[in-house]
Order: sequence, then structure tokens, then C-alpha cells
Amino acid sequence: MRQRTIKDTLRIDGIGIHTGERSEILLHPAEENTGIVFYRNRTLIQAVPENVVGTFLSTDLGSGSEVVKTVEHLLATLHLLGVTNMVVEVVGGCEIPIMDGSAYVFYKEMKDLVVEQDEEVDPVSPEETFRVRSGEAWIEVSPCDCLEITYEGVFKGYMGEQRFTFRGNAKDVVLARTFCFDEDIEFIRSRGLGKGGSLDNTLVIGRNGVYNREGLRYEDEPARHKVLDLIGDLYLLGAPFKGRVVSHRGGHTLNYMAVREIYKRSKSGLRSLRS
Ligand code: ZN
Repeated sequence: MRQRTIKDTLRIDGIGIHTGERSEILLHPAEENTGIVFYRNRTLIQAVPENVVGTFLSTDLGSGSEVVKTVEHLLATLHLLGVTNMVVEVVGGCEIPIMDGSAYVFYKEMKDLVVEQDEEVDPVSPEETFRVRSGEAWIEVSPCDCLEITYEGVFKGYMGEQRFTFRGNAKDVVLARTFCFDEDIEFIRSRGLGKGGSLDNTLVIGRNGVYNREGLRYEDEPARHKVLDLIGDLYLLGAPFKGRVVSHRGGHTLNYMAVREIYKRSKSGLRSLRS
């Protein structure tokens, strides 16, 4: 497939869900073979597995003393649109803005700006089926000439068991919002996170329903959001992914384990990780 970038710089601002700080990013077009690169305080941070510095409730990238938090929804959008080259300049705060908690704003603003470039990019594909595990959770990765991502989980509150499979239609996942359970908010805040979280950017689930007045955007919105996160985390591979992934109760930490394993095993994986 051909490499892609966007044709104009795009400015997006909002707040960081974890830092609670105002956040402003400039999405710049980039030359072929640039990859997805974050740029903050004169530091370049390539979106590759070795730059992952945190996976607790968000995926964070860093290099030296610079960190860019919560990159997953932006990366998911770039993965869905096949944008392979971009410089994401973080000019305010140290976190990608959460917007409405979904990838919708990124997707809507970017989709008509995408342009193909001359050079090709090889997708990253697994050659055989394997699983990574952590406790009860596992992720299975298998070869397929497709991008098919399934999430299955048992959610607290009234959401219960959910299973959703993405088969290539961005509209099935871009609107799915970040969610949390009311009983977990205190814990999240006690860890110094979720400072910017509100009903404007998070689906808050209780025992009998959701707190958000507008209700759910999809009946299985949490499972779809988990798929969106996985599409974003998979883009840390540095190239579009082709394969089938089933996540059973996974989160960012397990997604990252799967990414590292795919990297090690795939032909286009970085050599440094394969040793
Ligand atoms: Zn998310």
C-alpha cells in the first residue's frame, strides 16, 4: 500500500483527560518514511514500541525527560486512515487532547486531508498464530489478509458481557468513547490520573445505567472503545497492521505486550527488538 500523509497542518486543542491541562497539538504533513513522530520541547519521539513509557490507563510515549501521554485515540485515527507519515507537535500540555473521549474529532478533521505519497509501505503481519497472556486476560494474534479486531469482555455494572468485531469500517468505532465505572473514579483520582475527566469526555457507567444524559452511542460502546484503543496501540508497530486479533479482557498493558511480540516475530519488525 502507498504511504500517506495529510496535505495541510491541522490544529486541535482541548484538555488532557489525565493531566487536566489545556492541550494543543499541530498535526503536520511529513515526508515519506518519516513515520508517526511526536515533537515536544525540541525532542522527537517516534511512535515505536521502544518509546512506550506508560500503559496504565493510557498509552504514553517518551524520550529523555519528555513524555506525551494518551496517544492511543490519535494513533487509532491515523491507523484507520492509513496515514503513515506525520509530525505531531505538542505545543500545549504534555497530553493529546481527549476531545469527546472518542476518535471522532480527529477522524472528522483529518479524513478529507489525507493524500497518498509515491512510496509504498509494507504492512506488518504475523506469520503464525500466538497468544500473549496476563492473568485471565489474553490476546490472540493470527495471520489474515485483513484488519480484523475483536474485543470480548465482561464489564461491571449493567453492561455485562460484550463482544465486538471490527472488520474495516471506521464508523463502527470512531464514535466510541472512553469509559469508566463510577466505583473506580476515586481510585483513578488517587493515582493522580483522570483530572480532566468529565461527562463531556467519558462514558461513566454505574450499576443501573450511564450517568451521561445522552446515553450510549452504541449498545456495546465499551467493547467498541476497547477495539479502538487496540487499533491505536497496534499502530505503535510503525506501519499498518494486517492480521486478526482477538482480545479477551485486554487493556493497554496487554496490547503493548502483543505489539512487542508481533514486532519481534514479523518480517518488518525493528531489528533491535528481535534480538
Ligand atoms: Zn481509549
